[in-house]
Amino acid sequence: MISPRVKSILYGLTIQTIISIFALPSHKSLNPEQTNTIPEKASKSRGVNLLSDLISLFYPEVCAACGMLLYRHEDTVCLSCRYLLPDTGYELVADNPVARIFWGRVRFEQVSAMYFFAKKGKVQHLVHELKYKSNRDAGLFLGREMGKKLAASALYSDIDYVVPVPLHARRQRIRGYNQSEVIARGIKETTGWRTDTTNLIRAGATETQTRKSRSARWDNVKDIFQLQNPDRFAEKHILLIDDVITTGSTIEACALALSAVNNIRVSVAAAACATS
Ligand SMILES: [Zn+2]
Repeated sequence: MISPRVKSILYGLTIQTIISIFALPSHKSLNPEQTNTIPEKASKSRGVNLLSDLISLFYPEVCAACGMLLYRHEDTVCLSCRYLLPDTGYELVADNPVARIFWGRVRFEQVSAMYFFAKKGKVQHLVHELKYKSNRDAGLFLGREMGKKLAASALYSDIDYVVPVPLHARRQRIRGYNQSEVIARGIKETTGWRTDTTNLIRAGATETQTRKSRSARWDNVKDIFQLQNPDRFAEKHILLIDDVITTGSTIEACALALSAVNNIRVSVAAAACATS
């Protein structure tokens, strides 16, 4: 059985192949004096397009937020999803629901999350692609979008270091990368802010956080983060990066490790939040 998706690519490819064959200049009919690089370039780019169509037939590029096929001009996330992703706007408001998660627990300069995370929604799809489907492009997309928004906000104007929440070494080996680090790389691309991935480290092994209550999560993570060189962050404004903020326990534990640093200021930015 051929899936409807493959059928639609085959159909598009067949039409494009026919057009390409008829549109390609015949080299025999070309006058050598008239030969210049333009038709050669055009036929080359047509050849490249045809090749990329053939590749996409076997490895179709799909949107990391909705799973539909991407058009050639689209990258990672389709235009429709880019338009429909649920922005929180929290990066522009100091007193927002994600910042309030930490009230009475830890003092941050600013806290924000870019998108609302809803079960079976586009943002969950994106984060799932990043964390469980080895799709780093989904994380780079999230990071770049975060970077654009954070750079446009007066609340995040003096960031010295972007610090992704460290992943335990064993889990990073299994996944191949730290998802928060990938997001931080995307942020760096659009803001130019320095990233530090070596100073804050995760020491102990932790069990998975997914099915734990808030107090159980806190017991699980509170002592596991350590700073290698506290002086490096002295007098600096650190931006901690996480994928999704739920109870905030992991971020709080990072803040605990950072609190030993002289005159440090810490802000937090996550790709998504589970609160509304
Ligand atoms: Zn989409």
